Order: sequence, then structure tokens, then C-alpha cells
Amino acid sequence: MSRNVIAITGAGRGIGLATAKRFARQGALLALNYQDTKDALEEVATMARDNGGGAILCKADVSDHTQVEAFIDAAMSQYGRVDVLVNNAGILHSVPTAEESWERFERTMAVNLGGTFAGIRAVLPSMLARKSGRIINVASELGLIGFATYASYCASKGAVIALTKAVAKEVAPSNILVNCVAPGPIETHMLIHDTVEFNDETRAQIPLKRFGQPDEIAAAIEFLAGPGASFMVGQVISPNGGTAI
Ligand code: NAP
Repeated sequence: MSRNVIAITGAGRGIGLATAKRFARQGALLALNYQDTKDALEEVATMARDNGGGAILCKADVSDHTQVEAFIDAAMSQYGRVDVLVNNAGILHSVPTAEESWERFERTMAVNLGGTFAGIRAVLPSMLARKSGRIINVASELGLIGFATYASYCASKGAVIALTKAVAKEVAPSNILVNCVAPGPIETHMLIHDTVEFNDETRAQIPLKRFGQPDEIAAAIEFLAGPGASFMVGQVISPNGGTAI
């Protein structure tokens, strides 16, 4: 059986970790990027190996394209190819737009948009040569609808959606499928610690009356990486409990 090679950025916690666990259970060959948080990744690596797969862990700051290239190079050296790249790493902060610093705006764009672009650019040459591959970008529903005091984040995620659509059209003729997941409010470190929205009032405004769980986004990513998504090109799937309909 041929095992899929899956590269995931920001795999150390939250949605990235839940995604890594899903693919580890499949016995995939994993390349797992982290910046600082990696405590859970040895367990994921063991899970992948126990299921016949494997894992390498790679430290990289995705805002630096040379580090992203090194991450993809490490996956290529280990496995000879990357079948699926999940551009998941991201940051968020809240501030009134008039008070936003240029440095934080640039950092948000460098991580969320630059990191995604760097991943796509690093992986495409080998995917184009093989005429095969999947790229899944993690955007946000806030990139679709906007949200007060999150302008830098919304702009970066809206750009990830536009990037997804443009690259999808460009590389679909080479059988490379590029799609996007745009989660609603998911119970991760980001929602709990980087926003003020993790409260009962926000919860009550969600039609489903609860926050999402990381694995509910991982499920959408797994779908986009799998055989059932063979006709999906440039699409935005938004598991959001009904917050953006
Ligand atoms: P999280 O728990 O805060 O995880 C963010 C991940 O991104 C961490 O693993 C973090 O690694 C990594 N990361 C941040 N900056 C990085 C950098 N410069 N280089 C490499 N990795 C970096 O939040 P999450 O909710 O799982 O977020 C995952 C993705 O989902 C993000 O793109 C986020 O924008 C998106 N999203 C989340 C929600 C939500 O409600 N939670 C909604 C919509 C979209 P370190 O800890 O090692 O820095």
C-alpha cells in the first residue's frame, strides 16, 4: 500500500495537532512543523509509526521563506515527495484599527499570508513534475465576513482565500488540487487566549450554540486530502456552526 506523505505547518497544537492525529491514525508519512510548541508531537509520531507510517519533526518559523523551504526539503529528503501540504500555522490579535502597529500588521501578514505563500512555492515544483498533489490552506470565516478589531487578521485570511483560488486555477491542469478551509470559532489556544470572544455571549450567537472542536476542522482537511475530494478545486469549506451562512 502506498502511504500518503503529509506536511503540516503549525502541527504542535490546536487544529494542526488534530489534523496530524487524523493522518497518524491513517498510518501516513508525516512531516510536522512546529515553531515552539511540540510537546504532543512525539506521541503523534509514535501513533503514526504504530500504524505503519512515520514522522519527522521540523522546527521552522513560517514567516521566513527559507525556513519553510528547509521544512519542505526535509520532507522531500525523508520521503521523496509531498502528496499533501496543509498550510495551517497562523496568528491572531485584536486591536482597534486606528491603534494597530505597523509591526503587528506586517507580522500577521508575514505568518498567515507569507507562510502560506512560501509553503505553496516550496512544494509546487515537485508536485508539478509529478502532476499530482493536494494543497489545503487554513484561512478563516473572518476572511469572508470581516470582524471589528481584527482587521490585520481578516485581511491576511481574505488574502489566503484569494491566493487559494488563483493558484487552484493555475495548477489544476497539472492535477494539483488547491483548496481552503475557513473555520468558524474553534476551541483552541487562539480563541481562548488571543481573543475576548470565548464567552457565553458569543456562544449564544452561534446557531449551533457551541464552539467547534479542532477535530471538526481536521475532518474537513482530511476530506480535502482524500479520494472524495477529487473534483474539488479552489473551494472554501467553512465549518462554522452557522456563524457565516
Ligand atoms: P493555535 O492553537 O494558536 O495554533 C496555532 C499554530 O500555529 C501553533 O501550532 C503555532 O505554533 C503555529 N504558528 C504560529 N506562528 C507560527 C510561525 N511563525 N511559524 C510556525 N508556526 C507558527 O490556534 P488554531 O486555532 O489551532 O490555529 C490554526 C489555524 O486555524 C490558524 O491559521 C488560524 O488562523 C486558523 N483558524 C482558527 C480559528 C479558531 O477559532 N481557533 C478560526 C479560524 C481559523 P507555536 O505554538 O509553536 O508557535
